[in-house]
Amino acid sequence: MATPDPYAALGVSREATPDEIKSAYRKMARQYHPDVNPNNPEAEEKFKEVSSAYAVLSDPEKRAQYDRFGSVEDQGGFNGNPGDFFQGGAGFGDLFEAFFGGAGGQQRARGGVRDGDDIRAEVSLSLREVLDGIEKKVTFRRSATCETCDGMGTADKSKPKTCATCNGMGAVAQVRQTMIGSIRTQTPCPTCRGEGIQIDNPCTSCRGDGVTPKQEELFVTIPAGIEGGQTLRVGGKGGDGARGGMRGDLYVVVHVIEDKRFIREGRNIATEVEITYAQATIGDTIEVGGLTDPLELSIEPGTQPGDTFRIKNEGLPRLGGGNRGDLYVEAKIIVPKKTSEGEKKLLKEYAELRGEPIPQGPGKPANIFEKIFKRR
Ligand SMILES: [Zn+2]
Ligand SMILES: [Zn+2]
Repeated sequence: MATPDPYAALGVSREATPDEIKSAYRKMARQYHPDVNPNNPEAEEKFKEVSSAYAVLSDPEKRAQYDRFGSVEDQGGFNGNPGDFFQGGAGFGDLFEAFFGGAGGQQRARGGVRDGDDIRAEVSLSLREVLDGIEKKVTFRRSATCETCDGMGTADKSKPKTCATCNGMGAVAQVRQTMIGSIRTQTPCPTCRGEGIQIDNPCTSCRGDGVTPKQEELFVTIPAGIEGGQTLRVGGKGGDGARGGMRGDLYVVVHVIEDKRFIREGRNIATEVEITYAQATIGDTIEVGGLTDPLELSIEPGTQPGDTFRIKNEGLPRLGGGNRGDLYVEAKIIVPKKTSEGEKKLLKEYAELRGEPIPQGPGKPANIFEKIFKRR
């Protein structure tokens, strides 16, 4: 019997290491497993293909045989008989791990003990608030221990019984015979939905859940220097657990509101300042708005449009403290939109003094071309 190319089936090279083969198989087995693709014959076919490919490549002898002869004999190998699959190279543990992620073990229900959820909340702050850090009120919804039943979920606050369907395991196993052997899968127990407990007389306030939703406000300290998108974890301030489970954590996602004056780049901030042609030429001392107070900035003579000045230590601190970054100020040189006759006269005189072309004001298109050609 010709064996289909197992390397092609798993998408690995002929030099692939056992680890590479294993990881390729796991990835594909997860993707094509019938439980993930119900009523999908194509996926089922693919699943069989990758499983038998793995049965060959995970067994050094069979792999060597395939490499030499391009096929694997049926003796003791995968031959389509139920049961062979798990006795072959692809062990039960491998497949189990592939679907449940554990080391062949299963997650046991914990007698109804359920840890609380982690909660995500958001907070917005201004750049000015980033400078010093701030306490911010954060509002969020979380699950809180039901006060009627003290979190037990039972009407009489008693400990819930063990689920009879799954015997407290929280999951039920199914063994199915398939073309490639028997496959064992686990599904959450339908009776207790995986909790492993049975509540005959549930608390009316929480319907047996042990927790009820609650709106909460909390002041959270936002440290100086934080950046937008960073998340603060506030341990033990998330949802309450049920029946003695641990409380979850609160995660506060920080947004920094865009600032009209400053662009931020880590610890440094940048801004623009408008100066006149005369200021740029002669130099001047001007005032620039800082994060907190107005700052003095010395404009050098001969400043060009786009020249940038740095004012040290007027940026933002690093998260966790340290020196402040710098403020970069870009000079924007403003050209007057309108000038009086007197101003025009002075500008022409100035041009003449410098030996520059003396501007005559806007002319006709023909004149413009003439000027361009003249200049050449
Ligand atoms: Zn159950
Ligand atoms: Zn309750």
